[in-house]
Amino acid sequence: MSETRSEISQLGEFGLIDHISRGFSLKNTSSIKGIGDDAAVLSAGQDDYLLLSTDMLVEGIHFDLAYMPLIHLGYKAVAVNVSDIAAMNGKAEQITVSLALTNRFSVEAVDALYKGIHAACENYGVDLIGGDTTASPSGLVISISVTGRVKKDKVVYRSGAKPHDIICVTGDLGGAFIGLQVLEREKQVFLSDPNMQPALDSFEYIVGRQLKPEARTDVVSDLAEAGVLPTSMIDVSDGLASELLHIGKNSGVGVRIFEDKIPIDQVTFNTAVEFNLDPITCALNGGEDYELLFTISQADQEKIKNHPDIHMIGYVHDKADQHLMISKQGTIVPLQAQGWNHFAS
Ligand code: ADP
Ligand code: MG
Repeated sequence: MSETRSEISQLGEFGLIDHISRGFSLKNTSSIKGIGDDAAVLSAGQDDYLLLSTDMLVEGIHFDLAYMPLIHLGYKAVAVNVSDIAAMNGKAEQITVSLALTNRFSVEAVDALYKGIHAACENYGVDLIGGDTTASPSGLVISISVTGRVKKDKVVYRSGAKPHDIICVTGDLGGAFIGLQVLEREKQVFLSDPNMQPALDSFEYIVGRQLKPEARTDVVSDLAEAGVLPTSMIDVSDGLASELLHIGKNSGVGVRIFEDKIPIDQVTFNTAVEFNLDPITCALNGGEDYELLFTISQADQEKIKNHPDIHMIGYVHDKADQHLMISKQGTIVPLQAQGWNHFAS
């Protein structure tokens, strides 16, 4: 046994995944793509690929039941998995749900969780096909795996971006993060005076972004209808900067985005300012927006330029080590992956 002890926090989440994956290679010809994208890609018949992804939500790390209703938690746990299938340009089809429960939870609480899971299954057209149930010494853990399907010639990886491609992002960014700040603040107010009612009315949009995210399956359909196949795609779970770097690194290209093109909702902007936070930093480094970030070839620009929810924020270039944002003042800011480091304490 070696005497050395290395801290996980020094590697961070992505470093740890790299570290783990180094010792493994794919042995089966049916394993088309393993670790390193939003979902694994497996061969499944003549025309289709099967997609497989898994995501775990842990109480106290990913959610706080003080402000996360169980019905929303159930919905969100499914939505974030469906989002990873959407990021491969696929359609989600089945989920399994694994739970670790403490005796703090009643049957009614489990029913509330599954009401949300059911609503998401209906909305995304997904079948619940199994799972696992066990006890937890402390805290709720919910782990969902999802399968999906995509035509072989329509699968989109993180690795296909080419110089001169246009970088697009859907919806707006930073809202889920700033919504979380509002929820945390109201929780503290409530803890100091339980008679205080949370004042959430004017924050409805951003609180909803945190508690009720949707996978952008609508955009996957719109792109197909417009005849646009993205050259690369990823969902925005860790923040725009981190996801741009994933696309850049996996595609062996550089990215250049423009600060004034980053879509930020007005409520997100105003609330960030109220919290003394830079709205752009919230969009770049806040997580959990579950929008889609993708690149398209210039030839496809016309086909989606009028889509109300797709924003062109920059372009791809050939200098693989240059991932930059041009600020409103015209200065060049290197993009850095903050993401979330749950291991830092
Ligand atoms: P996403 O944010 O899209 O869910 P992650 O950042 O969680 O993706 O994971 C990136 C890649 O690393 C995925 O291919 C995922 O399957 C893989 N991965 C994550 N954790 C592990 C692990 N503990 N062992 C093996 N592969 C992992
Ligand atoms: Mg993802």
